[in-house]
Amino acid sequence: MIRNNIQQIKGKIADKCLKIGRKPEEITLVAVSKQNPLSSIIEAAKYNILDFGENKAQELKQKTSEFIGEINWHFIGHLQTNKVKDIISSTYLIHSVDSIKLAKEINKRAENIKKIQNVLIEVNTSGEESKFGLNLYDKIFELAEFCKSCSNINLMGLMTMAPFTDDEIVIRNSFRNLKNIFEKLNSEGFTLTELSMGMTNDFEIAIEEGATILRIGTAIFRN
Ligand SMILES: *Cc1c(COP(=O)(O)O)cnc(C)c1O
Repeated sequence: MIRNNIQQIKGKIADKCLKIGRKPEEITLVAVSKQNPLSSIIEAAKYNILDFGENKAQELKQKTSEFIGEINWHFIGHLQTNKVKDIISSTYLIHSVDSIKLAKEINKRAENIKKIQNVLIEVNTSGEESKFGLNLYDKIFELAEFCKSCSNINLMGLMTMAPFTDDEIVIRNSFRNLKNIFEKLNSEGFTLTELSMGMTNDFEIAIEEGATILRIGTAIFRN
């Protein structure tokens, strides 16, 4: 099933890209493997999935200690400062930096192991209180500046989750909002390249709105 799911998703990404004049190669597909066993990860890796996303520090730590092979691990969940040490050595990209305190800890732990840690700033583009992430431009700018000042952090871009709704316009606005913030930061001296947005139910809209990283779980691992 995983094989078919991956083929289908890759096909949809390629079709959408073709339709709007983007290149599929500029989009990274992160298979969100949270709550799925290691065997599913091994299976997906066989079909050329090279990036996996986890949202719990403990689960990521466990899986990375058992998995043998070359893949990129992404941390996509809310990250508590005291958990940074558990994931720092194995994580390629942390999608969910939302405070200076957290960035400070990441920088410190990365320095300890002589690593430059890739990160994204999480933005709350929906205004939903249940979601993590920053929503004021000034706060995002301030955190971006802080990341830039950290010798062991590489700020690559921004991440968001669209609201849980069937309303395509609301979802699209959320992604547009992220892209606008991204462009504003770049016009103010940043060189961000990554927009992490789009999940099982909204990734095609995300591609249209400029996503460079899709985080897809259900559509890949469902039976
Ligand atoms: C679970 C999760 C996803 C994947 O969601 P699906 O709807 O299963 O594709 C993406 N991003 C984050 C932050 C998640 O927690």
